Amino acid sequence: MSAEKGRFYINCPYQEKEEAKALGAKWDAIAKKWYYTHSKDKHKFKKWINIASTDDEEKNNSFKVYKIFKECYKCKKNTSVYTYIKYDDGTEEDVAFPWDKKRLLKSQNIVAHMCDSSIEYYGLKVIGDDEKYDKTMMKRYPNKIKIEYSKVLKRYYPMNLCDFCGAKQGWNYIYRQVNIMIMNMEKIQIDE
Ligand SMILES: [Zn+2]
Repeated sequence: MSAEKGRFYINCPYQEKEEAKALGAKWDAIAKKWYYTHSKDKHKFKKWINIASTDDEEKNNSFKVYKIFKECYKCKKNTSVYTYIKYDDGTEEDVAFPWDKKRLLKSQNIVAHMCDSSIEYYGLKVIGDDEKYDKTMMKRYPNKIKIEYSKVLKRYYPMNLCDFCGAKQGWNYIYRQVNIMIMNMEKIQIDE
């Protein structure tokens, strides 16, 4: 029997950190990962050792989450909505204030803008546009964001629920509002 000491990293999701901690896991603030220190304890942390696509998830846990307030189409009250805002130009960078409209226009959806000039159709991605960030959002806000299957998109995609009536806030409303706020150089609150 060999027992090694070291840092054995696990892929523990944020919501399960207390559970891992209780089992003796420690936090590596630089790697931003939990780990255990004795190889003999491996069995205790089994459920977090072979999670698929964890590298992506770990990387994606650091993006900014924005909190928007919008009128619920159903009850007309102002509900909060959580989303990421990413450049849709292959860089995977967060779109951040002060908004770089010039850069956003480089990857503008010109055809869509010509059909509806009331919206700029900046080259950006919000919740529902990118599966890997969507997954992280759903994990982070399990009571606020609900998964729905879209027959059109042929995949599950997350929708924010209204704080008051629970109605699902669709992608197009969120995308539109983010575009308008950026166009007006309005600041958007970051959810910490
Ligand atoms: Zn509502």
